[in-house]
Amino acid sequence: MVNISKEQVLERLRSVRGPQGESDVVALGLVSDIFITGGKVMFSVTVPAELAQGMEPLRKAAEAAVRSIPGVEGAMVVLTAEKKGATSEGRAGPPPAQSPPPPHRHGPTGGRQAAAPGGGKAGVPGVDAIIAVASGKGGVGKSTTAVNLALALKANGLRVGILDADIYGPSLPRLLNLKDKPQVVSGRILRPLDAYGTKVMSIGLLVEEETPMIWRGPMVISALTQMLREVEWGELDILVVDMPPGTGDAQLTMAQQVPLAGAVIVSTPQDLALIDARKGLNMFRKVDVPVLGIVENMSYFICPHCGGRTDIFAHGGARHEAERLEVPFLGEVPLDLDIRLTSDAGTPVVVSDPTGRHALIYREIATRVWDGVRRARSGGRPPPRIVIE
Ligand code: ADP
Repeated sequence: MVNISKEQVLERLRSVRGPQGESDVVALGLVSDIFITGGKVMFSVTVPAELAQGMEPLRKAAEAAVRSIPGVEGAMVVLTAEKKGATSEGRAGPPPAQSPPPPHRHGPTGGRQAAAPGGGKAGVPGVDAIIAVASGKGGVGKSTTAVNLALALKANGLRVGILDADIYGPSLPRLLNLKDKPQVVSGRILRPLDAYGTKVMSIGLLVEEETPMIWRGPMVISALTQMLREVEWGELDILVVDMPPGTGDAQLTMAQQVPLAGAVIVSTPQDLALIDARKGLNMFRKVDVPVLGIVENMSYFICPHCGGRTDIFAHGGARHEAERLEVPFLGEVPLDLDIRLTSDAGTPVVVSDPTGRHALIYREIATRVWDGVRRARSGGRPPPRIVIE
C-alpha cells in the first residue's frame, strides 16, 4: 500500500488559493491538523465567517487536490470559521437561512429505505427511525439526556446510533469517553465509533473539542449531510440526533434537512426554560415533525446525605406545560450529582449503574419515546391489529 504523508497533502494543498484568491490555503495557515488513515485523508479548512456562504468551491478544490495524490482513496474536507463574537447566550450566532442542496444519495449500506414522515426527505438507508433531541436553550442537559436516552433505548433491546449534531458544542466524545478518530472505510464513508454497543458519530471527533467555531449555513448542511449520509451506520432501529441548542435558523435548517420521525424536547422546570421549550415545539411543528414529548430535566433534587427530596425549581412545570400544549410528558429526571459525575467520566449513568433508579427513569422515557415513534408512524393511531379469519 502506498504511504501518504502529511507533507504530501500540504504540498498538494499549496495549489489551492485562499478564500479571496490570495496566496494559498497552506501559506495562510488555514489547514487544520491532517488525519490520514489508510488511503483516506481528513482535515478542515478555516475560512472567514463573512465569506463562508461562497466557500464550497474552495472545499471542493481542496478535496480534488488531495484526491489527485497517488494512493489517496478518499478525502473529506470540512469548512470551519473562527468565532469572532458570541450572542447573549455565549453561542455563535445562527447561520443565515438558505435553501439546502440536494442530499447525497450514496448511502453506505444497501438496507431498507426509512420512511420519511418529516415530509418526503430521503431516508438514511438501513436506519429505521431518526429522532432529534432538542432544547430551547443551552445548558438544560440536552446532551446528557440524548446520550442516556440512546443508551436506554439500547438497553430496551433496540439497535441504536447517536449523531452529535451540536455543532456549537459537540460533547459526545467527552460524554462517551471517545478519543479515536473515525476511520474512513471507502471513498468518503466514515465508520462510526462504538460506545457501549451504540454507533456514534460526532463533529467533535473530526475537530478538536476546544476549537472555537462558528458555522454558516452551507457548512452546517455539508457537515450534517456527511455525518448523516456518509457514515456506515449499518442497520439501526433508531438514530438519536443531539441537536444544537436553541431554535434559530441553524436548528431549523437541520430539522428541515433530516428525515425526522419525531423530536424530544428537553427542558428544566424554570418558567424561562419552559418558554424556550415552547419555541422548540413550534419549530418542529413548523417543519411538520411530530413532537414526541417533553423531558423535564433537573426536575427535583435528592439530597445525597439524607435522601430528602427538594423541589428546587417549581417542579412539575414541564408536565403541566405538556398537558396545556397537548404533547406527551415523557418523564422527569432529578438533578443528581451521580448523573453529572458519570457524564463527566464518560460512563453515562444508564451504563454505569444499569439497574439503578436513574437508569430506570431513562428506560421508561425510552419506552415512551419508542412508542411515540411507532404511533407517529401510523399517523397518530395505534398500529392496526391483524385479524386472521
Ligand atoms: P446541554 O446539552 O443542554 O448544553 P449538558 O447535557 O451538557 O447540557 O448538561 C449541562 C451540565 O449539566 C453538564 O455538566 C451535565 O453533566 C449537567 N447535568 C445535566 N443533566 C443533569 C442532571 N439531571 N443532574 C445533574 N447534572 C446534570
